[in-house]
Amino acid sequence: MSKKIIILLGPPGSGKGSQAALIEQKLHYPHISTGDLLRAEMKAKTPLGLEAMSYVNEGKLGPDSLIFNIITKRIAQDDCKEGFILDGFPRNIKQGEYFQEKLNIDGNDVIVLNFELPDATIIERLSGRLICKDCGHPFHIKFTPPKKEGKCDKCGGELYQRADDAKEVIQHRLQVYAKQTEPLIQFYDDLQILKTIDCSPTPQLIFKQIVKKIG
Ligand code: AMP
Repeated sequence: MSKKIIILLGPPGSGKGSQAALIEQKLHYPHISTGDLLRAEMKAKTPLGLEAMSYVNEGKLGPDSLIFNIITKRIAQDDCKEGFILDGFPRNIKQGEYFQEKLNIDGNDVIVLNFELPDATIIERLSGRLICKDCGHPFHIKFTPPKKEGKCDKCGGELYQRADDAKEVIQHRLQVYAKQTEPLIQFYDDLQILKTIDCSPTPQLIFKQIVKKIG
């Protein structure tokens, strides 16, 4: 059966995770974030998680073979039968080619949403981001502060700053994005499945653009 696959392409901090959650609610396809999958392994201190810690915390990309392993297993699960939303994969041309050749083999309906946002806005968003240790809900020191300092409004869990949201690491992640991930924009444009999303307005207005493009 052909699936609907939505790939979210965009720099760190462009709001892919928040928008993926909204798309998930609307279409009932699972949101698959390779970053979240790696962080779950890190939290559980599995061998894979311990290995991931060095590159995730430094904002470097992990080895393609390991990412292929994780993503292949995840999209083979039952909840992906009708479709899924990819957030953070593919992250370079090799991963894009792997996905097209090895994982996207059933004539699926693939749409790539290219999230655009200036670097200065990204740095402001990421350097103020706080995440709940328990439920993963994101807050922002300035734009969406928690009601009680350091505590999650949703579940009361402790809030923390991701190690890779430190200012120097953000700069590095943006460089990695420009060098390794941005070439995928041309790759998907050539396949005529790329749609651009302006991520400077509010999350609600960004979602409106997305709904129009995913049909
Ligand atoms: P994210 O949550 O998408 O910002 O990802 C956090 C980190 O996980 C990245 O900085 C990488 O270290 C790693 N990572 C996530 N997805 C990938 C991928 N597709 N390829 C390589 N590394 C990845």
